Amino acid sequence: MLLQDEDNWHYTYIKGFHRLLRHVTGYHKRQFWCDKCLYVTTYEHVMKTHTEDCLGIDKSPCRIDMPQKGDLIQFQNIRKQLKAPFIIYCDFECLNVKSSDMGNQSPTKKLTDHVPCSFSYVVVKFDGSAKEPVLYRACDSSENVSETFLNE
Ligand SMILES: [Zn+2]
Repeated sequence: MLLQDEDNWHYTYIKGFHRLLRHVTGYHKRQFWCDKCLYVTTYEHVMKTHTEDCLGIDKSPCRIDMPQKGDLIQFQNIRKQLKAPFIIYCDFECLNVKSSDMGNQSPTKKLTDHVPCSFSYVVVKFDGSAKEPVLYRACDSSENVSETFLNE
């Protein structure tokens, strides 16, 4: 341990590390300290579990249990899954229109703009049933297809 008093520095040997920590915390009942990360508990079985998984200071205890070769692994907590009431599959088609923004200073030159011209989507419910797919095509290039999609 390094002790400092203004300009004086002194290393000192710690004979009873756990007694020192007990003095610091002021808790005088039996405690179990982890030497690697200074985790403390009053339960011996908790410390035993912690010691097996401790990786040291600044690292959370981590237990890695790899399956044996040939073991079957499958998700078991199906009841904990969230059910999505519906899923929307959507696709846009765009036209590559020559960009008018050619004068910027960036080394990357923007040659074209992607202008949406149509979209299609289908809504599938949680039971697998689906509504009729919706297809929308713009009548001319001035139409704002993105805004039409958001209004659907
Ligand atoms: Zn630890």
